[in-house]
Amino acid sequence: MSLLYYSKERELFPKEFEEHITDGVAQLFFERIKAHYKFRHGLEFGYRRGLCNLYRVSLPHNPPLAFLIHECCHAIQFKKWGFNRNGERAHTKKHTILMRRMFLYVQNHRAYWTDLDKAQAERRRLSYQNKLNKAQELRSFKDSHQGKIENLRKREKSALTRIKRGNSILKGIRRKIKYYEKRQEEQTKGGVVVKLCPQELLPVPPCPVHPMIMTLGALQ
Ligand SMILES: [Zn+2]
Repeated sequence: MSLLYYSKERELFPKEFEEHITDGVAQLFFERIKAHYKFRHGLEFGYRRGLCNLYRVSLPHNPPLAFLIHECCHAIQFKKWGFNRNGERAHTKKHTILMRRMFLYVQNHRAYWTDLDKAQAERRRLSYQNKLNKAQELRSFKDSHQGKIENLRKREKSALTRIKRGNSILKGIRRKIKYYEKRQEEQTKGGVVVKLCPQELLPVPPCPVHPMIMTLGALQ
């Protein structure tokens, strides 16, 4: 059944079976057909013949244009009524009609698609070139004396910021030291004993003459 259909198809579209297209062109045509006929299949290359299931169209490298069209028509059919393995339901008159329509669609639009693709490639190349130029300019600027000075200025600024931050931390630490020193002084002045003498384990009596000095000495 299928073999008969294939030979008939070759008679109907001899030119399209002769014409081989590159993988890139096939991909381009496939994307356009997919957008127009609204199916969501993926495309992959490297098969001996064309195949189509519910999710994927598979083709040989540099396929004939007719292979691509044939499988895309199956993609549309399978979208409508699910996967059909042996192709008996798929290879029908309707499939031929669909193929003919799709060939027409491709023939009418391929020049436009190719131009569009070329323009896009050119734009991509230009933007890449621009990026490259900018990167080179930046590099040469960084290597120049002016660039080095600017870089050092930036580093100077960040070093100054770090010094400022360190200074404020230092200030905080010193303030705390002062606070505790003051508290300690107050306690000693009032004659309150806070710690035992380490040698004798006896309360240290405040010195009547130099209360602070004596107590500190005893504590050490
Ligand atoms: Zn088929």
